[in-house]
Amino acid sequence: MKTIYLILVLNTFMLFTACGQHPKELASKEAIPTDMKKTDAYWKDKLSPESFRILREQGTEYPHTGAYNLHFKEGTYRCMACKEPLFESDSKFKSDCGWPSFDASIEGKVRYERDNTLGMVRTEIICNTCDGHLGHVFNDGPTATGVRYCVNSVALDFNSEDKKEE
Ligand SMILES: [Zn+2]
Repeated sequence: MKTIYLILVLNTFMLFTACGQHPKELASKEAIPTDMKKTDAYWKDKLSPESFRILREQGTEYPHTGAYNLHFKEGTYRCMACKEPLFESDSKFKSDCGWPSFDASIEGKVRYERDNTLGMVRTEIICNTCDGHLGHVFNDGPTATGVRYCVNSVALDFNSEDKKEE
């Protein structure tokens, strides 16, 4: 019994430390089971080579090159792969970083994972529906939320016809 208790305590501890690097109030959300979690072969067939590189191979587009970097129309930004809505134009702000920047995501649509690649500790943002890589989120946002979602344009699909449903 003691061993089981110890394992439980250790697990809880590890869970907390794993979340330690996530921006404030952005708890890592559980991945939701969905039939959109397809194989790479499926997405290779559906996506452009550049979208595939970003969404499925955790790539990054060159800064200041993306279609939505300086795009400020009203509407909804959806996942390029599964088409789920991810960000509203209300949360987009002008940033000099070179990528589309948002100060909030649509509730439950994005999940967070620690990313230790390239010698940095960052928080990766992932589409909760299809597991596509979107970009990273940082704690240096200039707006009231204090966070900056830095998203690759080619991971997004914009639709100005989308109106908020409330
Ligand atoms: Zn998606």
